Amino acid sequence: MQNKSSLSPWFDDFLGVAYRYYDLRMNVVPLFSERKQAAALWNETIHWWSDYAIKLRFVETGEKYWFIMGSDSKKPENNKSLFKILSKSEHYERFKNGYGGEAYLRLGVYVIMHKKGAKDDTVCNCGHRLDDHEEGNLDACLIEECNCRKFESFQVNLLKRKKTITDIKFLQEEQVKEDPLTWNCLYANKYKEIN
Ligand SMILES: [Zn+2]
Ligand SMILES: [Zn+2]
Repeated sequence: MQNKSSLSPWFDDFLGVAYRYYDLRMNVVPLFSERKQAAALWNETIHWWSDYAIKLRFVETGEKYWFIMGSDSKKPENNKSLFKILSKSEHYERFKNGYGGEAYLRLGVYVIMHKKGAKDDTVCNCGHRLDDHEEGNLDACLIEECNCRKFESFQVNLLKRKKTITDIKFLQEEQVKEDPLTWNCLYANKYKEIN
């Protein structure tokens, strides 16, 4: 099979993806470290996608999965498709089981917060509050059975604009040939490099 499709270039220069409930619906949130980068991707690319044309695909391979998203664009010269190989997470599983056929697409800015600047009730990535962590220079979590060694919390700041995605599929790797966007992604970013 040839990679002869006119699909747009693949873009993976983002940090990851958050899955959260906001506005009563699951939100799929590609994450950036800078608001500027996120705004640029939205303005140059995603803004030109029609909601109904957006395709969101997931391909699981063991503990990892491929996040794949693309669309036809009203401004094809600026179009890009997004992909990222990510580790399965609780949030991902919750999305998979609960998205209910559609989701909002938004972009987010990922902000890391260390002990300094956090409040007693700020929740660490381990799931426990700051005041459940050691004081002083050490800041390991004190909750039994938690192996967190360092308090670190993150916040996702969402950009306001959103699109609604209704074309969402979870695929096995054997099925990707039947799905042009997914096939193109794995061909360009996996199979081609192996051959
Ligand atoms: Zn912790
Ligand atoms: Zn903990």
